[in-house]
Order: sequence, then structure tokens, then C-alpha cells
Amino acid sequence: DAHTGRPVTPSGGGHLAHNYHPLPVTLTGGEGAWMRDGDGREYLDLLAGYSALNFGHRHPTLVAAAHAQLDRLTLTSRAFDHDLLHPFADRLTALTGTQMMVPMNTGAEAVETAIKVARKWGHEVKGVPADRATIIVADGNFHGRTTTIISFSTDDDARRGYGPYTPGFRIVPFGDAAALAAAIDDTTVAVLLEPVQGESGVVVPGDGYLPAVRAACDAAGVLLVADEIQSGLGRTGTTLACELWGVTPDLVTLGKALGGGIVPVSAVVGRADVLGVLTPGTHGSTFGGNPLACAVGLAVVGLLETGEHQARARELGARLRSRLASLADDGLIAGYRTAGLWAGVDVDPAWGTGRDLCERLLERRVLAKDTHGSTIRLAPPLTIATDELDWGLDQLTDALRVR
Ligand code: PLP
Repeated sequence: DAHTGRPVTPSGGGHLAHNYHPLPVTLTGGEGAWMRDGDGREYLDLLAGYSALNFGHRHPTLVAAAHAQLDRLTLTSRAFDHDLLHPFADRLTALTGTQMMVPMNTGAEAVETAIKVARKWGHEVKGVPADRATIIVADGNFHGRTTTIISFSTDDDARRGYGPYTPGFRIVPFGDAAALAAAIDDTTVAVLLEPVQGESGVVVPGDGYLPAVRAACDAAGVLLVADEIQSGLGRTGTTLACELWGVTPDLVTLGKALGGGIVPVSAVVGRADVLGVLTPGTHGSTFGGNPLACAVGLAVVGLLETGEHQARARELGARLRSRLASLADDGLIAGYRTAGLWAGVDVDPAWGTGRDLCERLLERRVLAKDTHGSTIRLAPPLTIATDELDWGLDQLTDALRVR
């Protein structure tokens, strides 16, 4: 394993490609914040499918919407319209304060869509010479796994061996608005950022950063594209993380929780004059915006329209933050960062690795995942009960006390 140096044992038998190194548990059931293995042992899920399960496992409203739609209509392709497509676009754009939506399936597809739209807008509207568009991204980014997206990754594991790489991207340090502004030139069509970097370990920029990036984009006539696939849809205590800093992006990518942990659903939402560069035949997806996806997506939007899950993320997030602060005060962790009900926790390398901590947590029936060596990420379902979260954090404390 690149991070632990330990020999890697294949996890799924000889026929499963070994592109993951899962924790040693085989899950067979899930409900709310809990998952169950074949022996009936229950585990508290503090990863929540990297935020795809913001509403927990099998949320009754979402499961009911999926069941009802399975009995009605599941796929039309975009060759034909269906009755949920426009309602989904209407309500998702209303929820996010945007004007137009393009439905896709996975997060990476939404990011690819945003890149294509930004380039086409740059060439057709901004007047950048054909095929010369550049997009500015941040180091430490994670936007998905396609060849174009990994071309501008700074994670060697994600990138190495997959060239030739797609040109047209400039990488600047995350959190440094002056460096970003300095990288903009006449060919720049967009800045693509995660407002809070998830895979990097929940890296929260300084308060001035996003407003300064917005101002730099405005000054240069450059689009601000926020990748809210992990940060969006309630996780940070707001519908979009950008709201934390009062910033309105031109395009926003959404995914993960949009499909309620049931089906892959992603989208790009944003300005109608920008998404308007897409015309029939220029972009699409067989499954994008399918009736089952729209039914679940509409139910997800319905859960977020009340604001209760965002409020819950703020409330529980404050609790999570104060518990982590005392772990840091007690010297049990080396550092932490939070945004709503979302945290990156840095393990002291003298104690062990993030993987070691996740294995200790697994023994205590808590599921979490390490990222980048010494950091673990906590992203409990927003529906978790207060005493469940407390119990999970008690397990974290106990796990850290054992050296
Ligand atoms: N963008 C961000 C910020 C993500 O966190 C992820 C997944 O972790 C993606 C894009 C890619 O999403 P998917 O795995 O659905 O392609």
C-alpha cells in the first residue's frame, strides 16, 4: 500500500480488479446511520458514502420515491421527454438559486460537462481563439477519475501512467487568491474549484479566499465553476458550501447526495446564458435525467427545501467541532478542520496512520475512511441522532487513547 508500506492483499477474490483497498468488513444491510454485516454486527457509518448518503441509508422518503417510479417508468433516453424532467430542473434550480440545469449521472461526468461548457462559452462568447481555452484549478484538487480530470490532478497515484494528458489547465495553490488572479490571462475561460477540498482532507480556505476569487473572475470576465459534488446539498450547513462566504458561482457541479445513495445522479446548474451554449447534439448522456434518477433527485430536493437538514448539519457540526477541539487539546490528534457536519482529522504520525485509526474504529463498530496517509474524514449522515454521533465520537476518543 502506497501509504502504509504494507503488503496489499486482494480484497474481493481473484476476479475483482484491485483499484480499492477497503477495510476488512463485508456489508449486507443498512438503515439510517447504521450498516450491518452478514453476522448481524452493526456499524455506525461516519463516512456516508463520501457524502452520497447525506440522508442516511434507505431514507424512507427516497426509497418510496424510487419504488413508486420503478413501477411506472425508468428510462426514456433523451430522445423523448418525460414527466419528471422539467419538474426536476425547475426545483433543483430553485433550490440552488440558479437558472438552468444539465442532468448527468456521475460526479466526474458533471465536471466534464462543466469543463466542456466553459470551453465552448469561452470560444463562442468570450472570444478566445479556437481550442486555446485554459482553465485554472487548485493543487490538491479532486474532481473525479476521467482522463481529462486526472490530467490536472496533483495526486501522483491518481495520475501516474494514464497519459497522454489533456492540456489546457493551470494549477495554482489552493487558498491563495493572488496567485490565482496572477494566473489568469486572455485565454482563461474558467476557474474550477472545490469550495472546501474534500478528498484533500476537508481543507477549508480562509474567509477572504472565495470572495477574492469571485472578484478576480469578475474583473477578467472568467467563469467561476464550483465543484460542490462533495461539499454541496447540506453537508456544510448550507445548501451550497459557497453560501458560507456569500459567493455565487456561474456554474455548480452537483452529484453524490443528489441521488440519495440510491442511483447515480449528477448535474451542472448555473447561468442560463452560459449553459445556453449547449445545443441539440453537442452534449448528452443515455442515462442522464432518466425518470428513476429524476424521481429520486426530486425527493432529495424535497428534503432540502425545508432547510431542516442544513440546520441539523450546523447544529451537529458545532458539536463535532467542539469534540474535536477537546481531542486536540488533549493531544490525541494533531489537527482538525470542519465545515458543517464534515471534518478532516489529522492523526499524529507518531501514533499511527489514518488507516490504523480506521481499523481501530472498525473494531469498535465505527466506519470511517482515511485519505492521504495521516488524515481521516468524518462525514456522518445529516440524519444521524445526537446520541449516535456522541457514541461514534466516544469510540474515536477510545480508539485514539490506545497506542
Ligand atoms: N468532485 C468532487 C469534489 C468529488 O469529491 C468527487 C468524488 O469524490 C467527484 C467530483 C467525482 O464524483 P464521481 O466519483 O461520482 O465521479
